[in-house]
Amino acid sequence: MKGLFYITRRKKLSAPAVIAALILILASWFFSSEQNMQIWNTGIPSGDFISDSRQVSVYYLDVGQGDSELIRLPNGENILIDAGLSGGAQKLTSYLHQLGVSRIDYLIATHPHADHIGGMAQVIQDLEIGKVYLPRVADDQVPTTRTYEKMLDAASEKELRLTQGKAGMTIVDEEDVRLEFLAPQKEEYDNLNNYSIVVKLTFGEKSFLFTGDAEKEIEREMIEKYPDLHCDVLKVGHHGSNSSSTAVFLKEVAPEYGIISCGVDNDYGHPHSEVMNRLEKAGVKVYRTDLQGTIVFRTDGKRLSAQMNLPSLASDSSPKGNSAKAS
Ligand SMILES: [Zn+2]
Repeated sequence: MKGLFYITRRKKLSAPAVIAALILILASWFFSSEQNMQIWNTGIPSGDFISDSRQVSVYYLDVGQGDSELIRLPNGENILIDAGLSGGAQKLTSYLHQLGVSRIDYLIATHPHADHIGGMAQVIQDLEIGKVYLPRVADDQVPTTRTYEKMLDAASEKELRLTQGKAGMTIVDEEDVRLEFLAPQKEEYDNLNNYSIVVKLTFGEKSFLFTGDAEKEIEREMIEKYPDLHCDVLKVGHHGSNSSSTAVFLKEVAPEYGIISCGVDNDYGHPHSEVMNRLEKAGVKVYRTDLQGTIVFRTDGKRLSAQMNLPSLASDSSPKGNSAKAS
């Protein structure tokens, strides 16, 4: 872009310079539209490629250094797992409305950290809410943060009952759609991340796993409890922190795709290089919200398609989002 800017500032343009500029413009347009329409292993167009059949969409929302995923079921029900930081809450609910989502049937707060529940109060205020799930945390670890209180206040203002989410619960079980919780198994952990509700979504032959910020201890617990942990798309645990995604867990889950939800140049150095190496060794194709913005996967239960570079909802991003940060 620097070169283009220089050319436009020149007073006289030579013919070769004009031709070079045109080639540059066409090339950048071609590559950016390629990126917007990335498709894997289907050979069919992105977007509503299966609009005439039942489909599930999973949005990995780019909320910066936080987590938020929207699941849209074939019967029109919506599930929101986490709601990012409070600074991006307005953008999040506007985007949900833009997608035509006015009701969240199942709202899941994986664990009470600000990068997961920050936007919850706004979501509860701005949308119609069905059931709300959160883990039960040991008394001496219950957060006293303003963020947590705001979420509880918003829920009580709407007279919403909060349901404890734990391993073994099946939230949706109809026809070929199943949504279940694989963690937490215990009622006491030494670290709030490990209370994370882990969600598994299955539609036909395809499955998605959302591990919140669960760390290696929980990964080990799940391996012991569930003989089949496989999924096609894994929301990589704890923003790609080295605390999670052990080699043995990745081997058990064996996902084809891994999505890392993290902020551009975040203070934690997420994703950690050790995790990127383990993902590469496990043959997982990795996509990141800090590089690819909001990412959506769609499936008809047999095939998967995906689209990237949908708007960023990070609190410090421009409305259009992430063209500047795509590498
Ligand atoms: Zn987190």
